[in-house]
Amino acid sequence: MARAIIRISGLVQGIGFRPFVYRIAVSKGLGGYVKNLGDAGVEVLVEGEEARIHAFLRDLKDKKPPIALYTSVDVEWLDYVGDYNAFLIDESDAGRKNVRLSIIPPDISICDDCLRDIFNPQDRHFLYPFTCCTLCGPRFTVIKSLPYDRERTTMIDFPLCKECSHEYSNPLDRRFNAQTICCPRCGPRMKLLDHEGKIVEGGKDPIEFAARLLEEGFILAIKGIGGIHIAAKALEDEPLMRLRKRRRKPQKPFAIMSPDLGEVRKYAIVSKLEEELLSSYARPIVVLRKKDPFPLSELISPGLDTVGVMLPYSGIHYLLFHYRRQPALVMTSANLPGEPMTISNDEALEKLRGIVDYFLLHDREIWQRCDDSVLRVIDGRRVFMRRSRGYVPMPIALPFSSSIKVAAMGAELSTTAAILKKDRVYLTQHIGDLDGPESLTFLKEALIHLMALLGTDRVDAIACDMHPAFLSRDLASELSEEMDAPIIEVQHHHAHLASLMAENGIEPGKEVVGIVCDGFGYGMDGAPWGGEVIIADYEGFRRLGHLQPQPMPGGDLCARSYGRMLQGILYNDMPRDELRDFLTKECLRGFRRGVFEVETVFDQLEKGIYTPMTTSAGRLLDAVSCLLGIAYERSYEGEGAIKLEAFAARGNPDSVELPVEIEDRGGMLVLNTSRMVRRVMELKGFYRREDLACAFQKALAKGLAEMAIKVARDNGLSLIGFTGGVANNEAMNKIIRRMVEGQGYRFLCHGQVPCGDGGLSLGQATIASFKA
Ligand SMILES: [Zn+2]
Ligand SMILES: [Zn+2]
Ligand SMILES: [Zn+2]
Repeated sequence: MARAIIRISGLVQGIGFRPFVYRIAVSKGLGGYVKNLGDAGVEVLVEGEEARIHAFLRDLKDKKPPIALYTSVDVEWLDYVGDYNAFLIDESDAGRKNVRLSIIPPDISICDDCLRDIFNPQDRHFLYPFTCCTLCGPRFTVIKSLPYDRERTTMIDFPLCKECSHEYSNPLDRRFNAQTICCPRCGPRMKLLDHEGKIVEGGKDPIEFAARLLEEGFILAIKGIGGIHIAAKALEDEPLMRLRKRRRKPQKPFAIMSPDLGEVRKYAIVSKLEEELLSSYARPIVVLRKKDPFPLSELISPGLDTVGVMLPYSGIHYLLFHYRRQPALVMTSANLPGEPMTISNDEALEKLRGIVDYFLLHDREIWQRCDDSVLRVIDGRRVFMRRSRGYVPMPIALPFSSSIKVAAMGAELSTTAAILKKDRVYLTQHIGDLDGPESLTFLKEALIHLMALLGTDRVDAIACDMHPAFLSRDLASELSEEMDAPIIEVQHHHAHLASLMAENGIEPGKEVVGIVCDGFGYGMDGAPWGGEVIIADYEGFRRLGHLQPQPMPGGDLCARSYGRMLQGILYNDMPRDELRDFLTKECLRGFRRGVFEVETVFDQLEKGIYTPMTTSAGRLLDAVSCLLGIAYERSYEGEGAIKLEAFAARGNPDSVELPVEIEDRGGMLVLNTSRMVRRVMELKGFYRREDLACAFQKALAKGLAEMAIKVARDNGLSLIGFTGGVANNEAMNKIIRRMVEGQGYRFLCHGQVPCGDGGLSLGQATIASFKA
């Protein structure tokens, strides 16, 4: 006979873990208890025959709930005492001091058992959209503080009815100890409102009515788990034309939701890995290749060969498709430009008026806003484009442990923030673009909430971007004062590479060569960088190569009107009249104010008025997109590069070669991009535009890889990574990987956080922990 105390930390709270422990302990005939230790995980005491305890420990490992994640399991063997002749589940002990990190669960899509209940006329959860159990349902978005118990979630507004409390307190029930359970009698309710906010009567169920309205072509706001979607029929152009006009989003791709994989396969190509991602409990949006012909409306993702797809993840979604089966519905986050997604009913009624025709809402509060995550499979690997619902707030493990706590503010567009504590970094949900007071408030609230969940109210250092005008810097100053913590400025591209290194477990002190390509990051010299080859460890970096600096007449205006950038690149390489002729004939749509703008840009270039020089790969791809007549103006972040990639996917990579020329300017490698662009211009009309787009991406990737390989060879380094938003480009990613690995170097790419600015906070936090 023996006694053992087992302490488990990791993702073990809020996922039916204690009932699971209870069931295996009872099945082995052991006495003892299991209890939550606040954010320190779970403690189990078992007493009985030693062999049975060993069997218990095996089950603990082998039969754990699918979402459970152990970061440590400590077993302490003691002499048998005989205090327990039964096994108990102890109430959580919130007052206990924090001993070790634990993990807060993300939202989990509805499980198969609960779905069966929803569609079983005999079950009391029949057609009830909020049905959940210990294994599924909302977590992160409803938890107000830890430990995770109903009274500390937004379910506190819905006291359990008799039947629900019976299930809650029956250790053998699937809903035993499940904090968010409810039923039609005691739980939240749906309601349907018209555009004036008046309740719409009729129909047996608001969801049924809403499904009918969607089928008839109306646009609806639908409140789900962590936010509100704007939904519309995806089969025809007309509703989407209306939606795009009302939202003033002519081009930005919308995500769609389909009832099941069978339906998805009718309009998109789905690989095994993509299938797994789509059906995983996180239920992210997965960017898939469209089938040709594409049977849904082209207005879902205009000009792209891809479409973002997700499967239903809550009872609300399943019921919508149950009442009116459709191949797909557009489901896009309901946010106004520059603002985070709308989550409260009142706000929705106020802000979405004029955009939607009806509102399908419910009366459960959303505590934390959490947009859908977006993933893509590149070269057989999972890549995050946005890491949010279903993944947040699970941490990224670091290859070292820090003695200080750091808060990192992220960047400015598609951003996240992060908290570093010991050997983990916790990224916030997707914050979006910081361009107004609402988004800044959201950033602060998300950070403070994350800190509360981690049991801390202050940090030792605040990391932020070097850019003097980023709004996130305002928050950095505010927090720095409140917490009396120093601000640590981190260079943008160093942060990108550190993020890549951290998630790949690169040890401190080890140097890595990074190809860091994005739209824009504030350089050490104050210039806009974005096509860099650097060597870095967590403590510092050196710049050893970059794309040829190109003029940006009018600065940021170039990011909006792609023609300006193109004009800047070609300006020094050809006679003015010839260039004017070419631009007005073939690229005038790249100038908002037409010929007049072309002239003012010439003037600007000639006199050097407000024309910073940039090494940005993003701007370069925009310019080529304009040159080839693919995209002229930015209506969403990264549009030029994304459309160029889609276009290039239809090209033949071997039909034409562009010159790849690297100069060594006193130890600094520079890739001549003027020559590449000029050549594309000369060949336009002689080759398919698809082939030229393909050739350009290939030449750029080759040039970057060649520079990185040379830098690695000259400095005796073995690791080469590719990061920054441009690393989302599948073709470039593949070419760089083949070249790097072909030369015997190890290639690093992202798999846990986005390569774009959504993953930047991880790198910032990591670097600051060394610099503070
Ligand atoms: Zn369930
Ligand atoms: Zn109930
Ligand atoms: Zn960036």
